[in-house]
Amino acid sequence: MKDIKSDIKENFIEKLKSFQGKSLEDANNIDKYRALSGMVRDELGKRWVETNSQYNKEKIKQVYYLSIEFLLGKLLISNLINLDLYHNYKEALEELGINIDEIEEIEPDAGLGNGGLGRLAACFLDSMATLGIPGHGCGIRYKYGLFDQRIVDGQQVEYPDNWLKDGSMWEYRKQEKEVEVKFYGNFWAEKKDDGYETHFEDYQSILAVPYDIPIAGYKNNTVNTLRLWSAEVAENEFDFSEFNKGDYLKAVEYSRSVEAISEILYPDDNHYQGKELRLKQQYFFVSASIQSIINRCKKKNQSIAHIDELVAIHINDTHPAIAIAELMRILMDDEGFEWNDAWRVTTNTISYTNHTIMPEALEKWPIDLFKNLLPRIYHIIEEINKRFIEMISIKYPDDLRKIKAMSIIEDGQVKMANLAIIGSNSVNGVAKIHSEILKKQVFKDFYDWCPFLFNNKTNGITHRRWLIKSNPELSDLITRTIGNGWIDHPIDLGKILKYEKDSKFQKEISSIKYNNKVILAKLIEEEMGIKVNPKAIFDVHIKRIHSYKRQLLNLFHIIDLYNRLKENPNLEIHPRVFIFGGKAAQSYYIAKETIKLIHSVAEVINNDEEIEDKIKVIFLENYRVSLAEKLFPAADVSEQISTASKEASGTGNMKFMMNGAVTIGTMDGANIEILEEVGEDNIIIFGLSANEVMDYYHNGGYNAWEVYNSDIRIKRIMDSLVDGTFSKGQKDKYRNLFNYLLINNDEYFVLKDFDSYIKAQNKVEALFKDRNTWNKMCINNIARSGKFSSDRTINEYSVGIWKVAPFVVKN
Ligand SMILES: *Cc1c(COP(=O)(O)O)cnc(C)c1O
Repeated sequence: MKDIKSDIKENFIEKLKSFQGKSLEDANNIDKYRALSGMVRDELGKRWVETNSQYNKEKIKQVYYLSIEFLLGKLLISNLINLDLYHNYKEALEELGINIDEIEEIEPDAGLGNGGLGRLAACFLDSMATLGIPGHGCGIRYKYGLFDQRIVDGQQVEYPDNWLKDGSMWEYRKQEKEVEVKFYGNFWAEKKDDGYETHFEDYQSILAVPYDIPIAGYKNNTVNTLRLWSAEVAENEFDFSEFNKGDYLKAVEYSRSVEAISEILYPDDNHYQGKELRLKQQYFFVSASIQSIINRCKKKNQSIAHIDELVAIHINDTHPAIAIAELMRILMDDEGFEWNDAWRVTTNTISYTNHTIMPEALEKWPIDLFKNLLPRIYHIIEEINKRFIEMISIKYPDDLRKIKAMSIIEDGQVKMANLAIIGSNSVNGVAKIHSEILKKQVFKDFYDWCPFLFNNKTNGITHRRWLIKSNPELSDLITRTIGNGWIDHPIDLGKILKYEKDSKFQKEISSIKYNNKVILAKLIEEEMGIKVNPKAIFDVHIKRIHSYKRQLLNLFHIIDLYNRLKENPNLEIHPRVFIFGGKAAQSYYIAKETIKLIHSVAEVINNDEEIEDKIKVIFLENYRVSLAEKLFPAADVSEQISTASKEASGTGNMKFMMNGAVTIGTMDGANIEILEEVGEDNIIIFGLSANEVMDYYHNGGYNAWEVYNSDIRIKRIMDSLVDGTFSKGQKDKYRNLFNYLLINNDEYFVLKDFDSYIKAQNKVEALFKDRNTWNKMCINNIARSGKFSSDRTINEYSVGIWKVAPFVVKN
């Protein structure tokens, strides 16, 4: 038998010829990327066809995960790892003088998401396929993903992310599976003896064309599907008479307006914009997805009357909540169901995850906009609401407050969270504290009405991308030490605890971290021309820029440390590199000012010769999945400092932990469960609790001016924003940030938590200097991170919500 690597080399050279028309000598990295991905496509394709054929033969329940975002990142190496081909390919290419990491650089990130919510959807796809859950993603094929961020003169500038410009190697256009989606028009219902007759006329019909991406499980034969929809002009809608009359421009304009639906991803994270185009996007992908789910059942001759036994449909936040009304519409208008049967089947099929309690993120559509764009859907929602209110009015006859709060339609708006709760069989939060806040505060009325609807599913991350792929050295050390059982059972990472005091193991852990820091230091020097010391503490704050995530609190600690060093140049501190990364929504003024201020502070401190390399401040531009993979493995300190109660879960915190960074964090989101896992010796907690924060919001009692006037460190920092210290004498440059903090009474408690944060940071410093203790902390964090694998999360969804069992795809 010929050995595998020779086969790979031979096939690779063949693919270069057939795909790119090039010899190995002439091929550039783009040619090599395309040839290599082509080989991976061949492997995926075989298993994909087999998986689908077995799903079709057997009557197994399918899960559809509807999400307006999927933040996939790059797929080449991740696919190779899951197909169990990575090592052979890497080595075979090495024998040809090719470095696979350089080839991966060619692939553009699929950045079809803003942050945590979209990345969660991507981790879930990986875990579903790995666990053998027949689970598929449904979303939008945005022509432009989240903008490219570049920093020009210390400010964020947004560039379009044209990720499809050279085509994608992972998508398959399935023209024959296109469906029609209808907007606008006139809808009315006519009373007849045997019920109603409905009429829907003069609507605009557009085409939804699916592009499928195969999602491979880890070392099994499962390949599930991510179906992303693209909007196109329906031929019968294209007004050829206008076109023939010579109104070419009108025809072009029309096709532009249709294609706009799947053109751009809205760049707002945790913030709602009531734009018609966004609602169009939502209905577009939801309607197309539900239609294709129904088509699939019919093709298999399955009875739509029992669709709740054949499929589970999950909605990732409220963006796809309209699925409830769309499924009702199809069951009644197309399949002839009576209301009650349609409602029973719909609610048995759909489940909902809430992602935030921030009021500005809750979706509320103006009735006029909604009704004009989706008249039939609005009619159904009105009816759902009418029946729901009739029902709860029996239980709470005189409680008008309750009835208003629970109503889907109120004050001229359609409240999508209420629709999602009323139309689902399960409502879950994404970390214990978040699920408790949902029950006790945000959705208390719904919880009192129907407590068994509510449950918790703490988020997770796929350890295949966030440890095996991103930190191969650490992953190999773990396998050398405890065997490879942890890969299928990440809880087994706990087995390395046996070695927490083993000085050889400690040394290896610490030298892997050091190597990763050297690699990152090299990247920082290449990108920014700044030399950083890999022996320094790498203190990393990477996530969307948002007031509640409190990048300003981190920056105030940096300024305070700088002030102390300036006052006392002999102050002994362990050198630190503060690393920031993250994008601000274009329209989010305070977030963009925060990016500016980080750069201004960095400019002063990095160029202050007295400071030497005791402090460096780095902002890495264009934070995205592929950059994240280089940052987590090189971090010593994980900044998770959101105002308590605001971060529903966080998943960045889990990636850091799994790579051996120590968290400095508030009692918020999944930080609380990280503390539960590692114990208080292995995490540094500070700040107000969620109860204290909410007590201030409800009862007052906090005055930011008082803190400003009574803490001289804070006064000095705040004043330095408006005395020109960080703005080359331009005093008013940060006046608005200064005012924002004080005039809004410091709504996210940056000043209030400052003292506690400084003490926590001093503790970080002391612990880091004690190398033995710090290494033990790193080991404990890695060892206890198994709970946060998304395999655990998906198992909980499968058993507790979807009622699906794994299915073994046979070879
Ligand atoms: C994990 C991840 C996030 C979420 O980070 P949080 O710290 O939980 O907000 C955002 N963006 C990218 C690229 C990620 O990988």
